[in-house]
Amino acid sequence: MVIDGRTTLCGLFGCPVEHSFSPLMHNTAFQYLKLNWAYVPFKVEPHQLPRALSSIPALNLAGVNVTIPHKEAVLRYLDELTPCAASIGAVNVILNREGKLVGDNTDGRGFIKSLQEEAGLIPAGKKAVILGAGGAAKAAAVQLAVEGAEEVSIVNRTPGKAEQLARAVQNLGSKSRVLTWEQTGEAAAAINEADLVVQATSVGMYPDVNSHLPVPEDAFHSGQVVYDLIYNPLKTKFLKMAEIRGAKAVSGLGMLLYQGALAFELWTGTAAPVNIMREALQKQLKGR
Ligand code: NAP
Repeated sequence: MVIDGRTTLCGLFGCPVEHSFSPLMHNTAFQYLKLNWAYVPFKVEPHQLPRALSSIPALNLAGVNVTIPHKEAVLRYLDELTPCAASIGAVNVILNREGKLVGDNTDGRGFIKSLQEEAGLIPAGKKAVILGAGGAAKAAAVQLAVEGAEEVSIVNRTPGKAEQLARAVQNLGSKSRVLTWEQTGEAAAAINEADLVVQATSVGMYPDVNSHLPVPEDAFHSGQVVYDLIYNPLKTKFLKMAEIRGAKAVSGLGMLLYQGALAFELWTGTAAPVNIMREALQKQLKGR
């Protein structure tokens, strides 16, 4: 990659950023398409966020991705939010539109795209259960409701967060129930009745790969799609349990890929080379 006076820059604002796969995914795509663009990770401490955001138009960046811990904190500093970012209440991509900062969220759309591509599941009219109520759960649940899911129920350790998310889902027209992990039997029954189960907690993520949520194996069955938002490892213990019972198991790599591909397209106006980006991610994950 040669950086010169004509290079268009974009990047990532987060803290930490060392472990992000986004620079690899985007820079591989730029090189493949011979675009004179570069993606740079910027470690932005929370107290520096306002100054970092004002540097986007000042330095003429095309835009940035936003990750932990800034996805909600950026909202108040942006000029505009897309309806999608407003309903999720978080931003993962900022576009520099002639000096105006527009916040969008491609996490939920990336999740839906992956669900359709990898599991052939169309959410309209389906029953889903989301396990977790953090940032990733919120993006997935809201987008499922936007796509017309009949029911999007939430199981979470902290009931207050689940109740807030359930209200957001109900406001978009889907039914929603809230359960906690103490209600083991009800949670297992809700999972059993669902067409789609989304594991959206950090339980089972590397290095804690032997952990899984307290869901009995017989809650899963064939004809169900079980999606784990975790992509490291590619097959979590939770996914292995679901697969043994005949469910279609899908890892979070697709969500990571498609949220990135959608951001790439918003910035460049060019179709993202998703196969090349997927290969780069897989290679990186196998190397870890
Ligand atoms: P987050 O906002 O910190 O939320 C974490 C969630 O996990 C919360 O619901 C939390 O419950 C729950 N949780 C944590 N430890 C738990 C435990 N021991 N028992 C039960 N529940 C527990 O994190 P996030 O950003 O949503 O990320 C969640 C997962 O999604 C991570 O593994 C992350 O890698 C993955 N992710 C994937 C993608 C992708 O592109 N594939 C994108 C974003 C995130 P409480 O509410 O009770 O604390």
